[in-house]
Amino acid sequence: MSLSLFDLTGRVALITGSSQGIGYALAGGLGRAGARVILNGRDASKLAQAVDSLSAEGLNVTGSVFDVTDPDAIEAAVARIEQEVGPVDILINNAGKQHRAPAEEFPDEAWRDIFRTNVDSAFFAARSVGRRMIERRRGKIINIGSVQSELGRPTIVPYTATKGAVKMMTRGLAAEWAKHNIQVNAIGPGYFDTPLNAALVNNPEFSAWLCGRTPAGRWGKLEELIGAAIFLSSSASDFVNGHMLMVDGGLTASV
Ligand code: NDP
Repeated sequence: MSLSLFDLTGRVALITGSSQGIGYALAGGLGRAGARVILNGRDASKLAQAVDSLSAEGLNVTGSVFDVTDPDAIEAAVARIEQEVGPVDILINNAGKQHRAPAEEFPDEAWRDIFRTNVDSAFFAARSVGRRMIERRRGKIINIGSVQSELGRPTIVPYTATKGAVKMMTRGLAAEWAKHNIQVNAIGPGYFDTPLNAALVNNPEFSAWLCGRTPAGRWGKLEELIGAAIFLSSSASDFVNGHMLMVDGGLTASV
């Protein structure tokens, strides 16, 4: 297999929620593989800082501030990106949020907000970009799922439900759009040190549980997600569709 199969030179990639954490790591990874990357977030100054630091590495990146829970804002942003940068070849639906509380006390608005951010947003963005990919007869969509679609864990019931929805939305879109030469896949990260996990990272009891439960015996490193994203963004995955690639040190493979 030629390594050029993984080359993303000239491809335009839009990564939602990429001003920090996993999205930011993937933006750097795809940028280093040659892609022109559009980073996104709601906080304009945080996004500008992220763009500046990747630009300083010589990567071809720009920022687009919009809220992924607003379908009109997504549509406007995609139209603007396509006009100013070029057709979006790769969409990574990464923006997501977490709220921890016992199920019996879980606030209504937090439940709705998690679904809007983790599920609605991914569908709205896939719909906006997918419509254009159908016309061009090619495209790659990657949804960031989670090991939580495979595990039941306390205090995160809504989050777990959203990641189950993301997994099945991935399969449904793949089945529907395969005929248009669009591949829709997902990545299922294990546990990574990002602001989303701030409460867990400094909790020694949790860390001990995680490292004991994970065959690799440790947390993931953000750069370890990049290979999966490049594979699923590139021609190397042209016959891979509806799959969720777990990057979790074996966590979901073990009992
Ligand atoms: P972070 O909380 O560190 O980063 C979230 C990013 O999303 C930020 O850039 C934030 O920017 C952006 N964002 C949040 N809401 C919106 C919105 N409504 N519109 C636009 N941007 C938004 O999260 P992680 O990097 O940890 O997680 C990224 C994805 O990976 C999520 O889908 C998460 O569920 C998933 N995941 C994470 C794991 C982990 O271990 N960290 C494990 C498994 C899955 P801003 O503040 O400007 O809105």
